[in-house]
Amino acid sequence: MNESSGPDSAVSATRVPLTFPFALAVWLAVIAAVLELAYRTAGFIWFGQMFRAGLDAIWMVPISNLIWFGATAAVLAFGIRRWPQRVSPQIVLTVLGFVLFAGLAWLNPSIHKKAATILALGIAVQAGRMAAPRFSAIDRWVRKSFWWPIGAMIVALIGVNGGRWGLERSRIASLQEQASSGPTSVLLLVLDTVRAFNLGLYGYDKQTTPNLGRWALQGVRFDRAFVTAPWTFPSHAAMFTGRFPFEMRMAGLHDVGWKHRLSKESPTLAEVLSANGYATGGFVGNLAYTSWEYGFNRGFIHYEDYKVTLQTFLSSSIIGRRITEPASIRRLMGSPAGLNRRSVTQINESVFSWLEGVKGRPFFVFVNLFDAHGPLFPPPPFDTLFGPRNPRTFVSSDLEFGEGAAETRERMSSYDGAIAFMDQEIDLLLKKMQQRGLLDNTLVIVTSDHGEHWGEHNRFSHGNSFYRQLLQVPLVFWHASRFPAGTVVKEPVSLRDLPSTILEITGVPNSGRLLGTSLTRHIDAPESSWQGEPHSMSPIVASTARLDITKSVSVIARGMHYVRAAGKEELYDLENDPFDTLNLVATPVGLAALPAFRFTVDSIKKSGNTRSGVMTSRVAFP
Ligand SMILES: [Zn+2]
Repeated sequence: MNESSGPDSAVSATRVPLTFPFALAVWLAVIAAVLELAYRTAGFIWFGQMFRAGLDAIWMVPISNLIWFGATAAVLAFGIRRWPQRVSPQIVLTVLGFVLFAGLAWLNPSIHKKAATILALGIAVQAGRMAAPRFSAIDRWVRKSFWWPIGAMIVALIGVNGGRWGLERSRIASLQEQASSGPTSVLLLVLDTVRAFNLGLYGYDKQTTPNLGRWALQGVRFDRAFVTAPWTFPSHAAMFTGRFPFEMRMAGLHDVGWKHRLSKESPTLAEVLSANGYATGGFVGNLAYTSWEYGFNRGFIHYEDYKVTLQTFLSSSIIGRRITEPASIRRLMGSPAGLNRRSVTQINESVFSWLEGVKGRPFFVFVNLFDAHGPLFPPPPFDTLFGPRNPRTFVSSDLEFGEGAAETRERMSSYDGAIAFMDQEIDLLLKKMQQRGLLDNTLVIVTSDHGEHWGEHNRFSHGNSFYRQLLQVPLVFWHASRFPAGTVVKEPVSLRDLPSTILEITGVPNSGRLLGTSLTRHIDAPESSWQGEPHSMSPIVASTARLDITKSVSVIARGMHYVRAAGKEELYDLENDPFDTLNLVATPVGLAALPAFRFTVDSIKKSGNTRSGVMTSRVAFP
């Protein structure tokens, strides 16, 4: 049949009912969603790929698909109305089929986007040609049965949301109600990518933390707190399990890698606390490495990572993601940094409203705030509080070498602004909690998972060195009555000791499952001035576990900071050289100190911890 050859053949052509494209769109939206979810699930289970969405994907993907297929159907319906003779069944089938096949072809990131689109177009043309002769049967069946996929979408929407709500309610109801004198609650605030050096609290010349400074004056300030790794995943893992990266076995792969998950062999703080009657809630801004896929949600009754917003909804399926991908469209949607990003204000709101719902029970709340992670966009007035705003700070997180010192300073003023913004918002949250009596018996901990390089040692960003710009982070404890006000701990401490500390303060038995030693040994000791290591005999280690520890490691002990990277050794004075600028390795002091550090690194390597995941609670230092 050749429709365009003349009026006679046009009359004989099958007309497409106006409702047909819509009915077919409903079916295709669900078919595309089922195939996409199956593909992503298989990738997650078998190929170590991240799912990059929460359970809501089950309803969000089909329903958001319906918008894109529906919009296509609307255009086709307009065409049918306007040119009923020209918009043939074959055209309708081909166009809607193209949306389906493109969505599937785009799923595989190894196929170039344009190639995938051309491939989908070819398949759609072929499929349209084959289906067109059977149009009458297809039309009858699709328009009769399209209620089924609509029903499936409604069931998915209600099932996921109702099921989650019901499960959480029943788990909280099963926890015992406690009097206000009951167990100590815990609020753990992790300010992602915040190094100690940029906090007014630690003597920085800009007042980035006026509020935190006030809280610290009533609590404990640790002046030398170190993370166990210079990047998010292993550092958080240590705060949850008490394990150095080399003590951790990740699922199946015996390592802490970019695509690996926290092994079930490492029990977590949230698991121990929830087993002891705590209402546990996690709220995270860093979706790259603290989402449920990494295993951090274990032990949490409530875990908020991927939130449902209009933007995340529209981009939940691969079709939506491709359509909303261009920067211009993202700007239109008001979120140039990425559609999933949540600010400290939004996260703190969720924290507070969740706490209202669990009132009367001890709680453990873990919060990861992502505002100081690039790309940086603190809101006014914080965007220009410490200097002019550098436009590039807002479009890219890739800091480049070779830029001028002035540009680096401008970018760093956005970083400082982001820290000050979090400082304000944390203060608001704590004051609100105080008013509601939620801080009467609560241990508040403010810390970070790693710092950031701002050009020092010719580096930007993080995860790329073992210098103190990345390893030294803020650590503040606050409790209404537990600590003597204004306590300052000068001894170096490791965040791997956080879980043990929290269990000791809450009185929850550890039974050896979480490693490390409680930091209260520093707080409760009368002498808080730092003279060598009166309390912490164990050296502080940081490594990245993806590599052989002897090639890439940092060890802090006896007032010195030892760095080994790419086989090269460096040694710095911890007290007098906070920025690791003067390498002492060839000096008499350095030469005398080196053997002990080498011994420590070799003993870790020899104990086989890097491969077998055998636990060590103490690292040897001669
Ligand atoms: Zn991080």
